[in-house]
Amino acid sequence: MMENCLFCKIIKGDIPSTKVYEDEYCYAFRDINPQAPVHVLVIPKIHVANMAEISLLPQEAQTALFAAVKKIAEAEKLEKGFRVVSNCGPHACQSVHHLHLHILGGRQLAETMV
Ligand code: AMP
Repeated sequence: MMENCLFCKIIKGDIPSTKVYEDEYCYAFRDINPQAPVHVLVIPKIHVANMAEISLLPQEAQTALFAAVKKIAEAEKLEKGFRVVSNCGPHACQSVHHLHLHILGGRQLAETMV
């Protein structure tokens, strides 16, 4: 846990969230400012800043993160497709410095990504 990290506080329950999934390694919740009908954030319970630091996570936690994406996509009925995005660093406008994967879906998404 990292002090003053918004997402660490969400994992602890100190800040409320709408949980959609949890296991030993990951927590997932609805984005407060959704960009699509389904917009879920999946985060590791161990604090790392972003994708550039993913190798700091134990292998099991890395695997669990991607396994969680598949489980959430199924639970959210995204069989027509979905997009997974992880903003990393200033060029990507990362605003919360705790690794998170955005799962976006529930409608036709734009052909362009940026
Ligand atoms: P990023 O810009 O990739 O760092 O994404 C951070 C995301 O966190 C944004 O999509 C925000 O809407 C979302 N967010 C910020 N605060 C909260 C919160 N308290 N609960 C849920 N989502 C949040």
